[in-house]
Amino acid sequence: MHRQQEDHRSSAFPTLTRSILSRLPQIVNQTKGQAFVFPASGTAMWEAALVNTLDPGARLLAIRFGQFSHLFITTARALGYAVDVIEVPWGEAAPADRIEDALHADAAHEYQGLLLVHNETATGVTSDVAGVRAAIDRAQHPALLYVDGVSSIASLEFQFDAWGVDLAITGSQKGFMLPGGLGILYTSEKALARVDSATTPRAYFDLRAMRVQNASGYFPSTPALSLLFGLDESITMLLEEGMPAIAARHRRLATGVRAAVRAWGLTPCARRPEIESDTLTAVVMPDGMDSSRVVEIAFKRYDISLGAGLGEVAGKVFRIGHLGDTNALTLAGALAGVEMSLADVGVPLTLGSGVGAALSHWRVPA
Ligand code: PLP
Repeated sequence: MHRQQEDHRSSAFPTLTRSILSRLPQIVNQTKGQAFVFPASGTAMWEAALVNTLDPGARLLAIRFGQFSHLFITTARALGYAVDVIEVPWGEAAPADRIEDALHADAAHEYQGLLLVHNETATGVTSDVAGVRAAIDRAQHPALLYVDGVSSIASLEFQFDAWGVDLAITGSQKGFMLPGGLGILYTSEKALARVDSATTPRAYFDLRAMRVQNASGYFPSTPALSLLFGLDESITMLLEEGMPAIAARHRRLATGVRAAVRAWGLTPCARRPEIESDTLTAVVMPDGMDSSRVVEIAFKRYDISLGAGLGEVAGKVFRIGHLGDTNALTLAGALAGVEMSLADVGVPLTLGSGVGAALSHWRVPA
């Protein structure tokens, strides 16, 4: 990434654009439709996905079960869309049966889209996108399926085609292992057809302009060149390791982290093992103990950044990230920092218990 900047209008530039745009779909098992990259972030891609495919004031259905699903909804509402919300307890996953019922009840097919966060980063819960797609199909509803994959894409299995996803969004700073600053948007053929017919006004995020320029290897405005150099390499690294191997590595690391949490006598925010996220674990503090103290002590005394509790679970959970460019030894250090911080705030645990439990999952016996 630390290279001389190049002229993004030069005749040589399309080589980079094409290398990125032709390979991005492989990260999510996409063979039809198109991937886009903006100088932006995940939040911006919510907006890009919505304004490119909806008519003004369109009705949407969404599931709220954490801070990021909440913010997806507030973004859609701020843009003037009418969002009906299925409320789910934080720590639970998207309920396919309730989605099916809501879509069945919409006999007039007023919902233009369904908003789903695949991996709720606030609670460490992964939802079953295939199950949600099956619910949409059972209800025979034409709504577009919008999937937020910010903390899943490039880390967890993501089957864009097979799950019938219409729009998927992410940013550069998680599974792609880059600094923040790029928004990535995947679109199905059905979504692309809507890009042409949707009537919401749009400017910077207009995919029509992006498609025209991308077709010849360029961007409508100045791209974030350093990040594009990085993205090209990160795609190479991801495809070298292989998406199934990456998902398996995340599963293995997550299993160790969850073993540590249980060894400390604590519980994950995810209410059932089947929905526990392999990219991060939100840990519930014992009653009466403030999780923000743990985050602060970890940062100040042990030089490690944990995720704070957000929204409804602020003060109640802290979050351990285990995605992207990480491995057992890095995470063993992270768990050691968490253990010392928990002990410092008075959680009764045996030092080394969590690290030991994790190591027994991560050891590679001869
Ligand atoms: N969606 C999810 C699931 C996230 O975890 C985040 C950020 O962490 C966002 C959206 C927002 O993305 P960004 O911070 O890149 O705008």
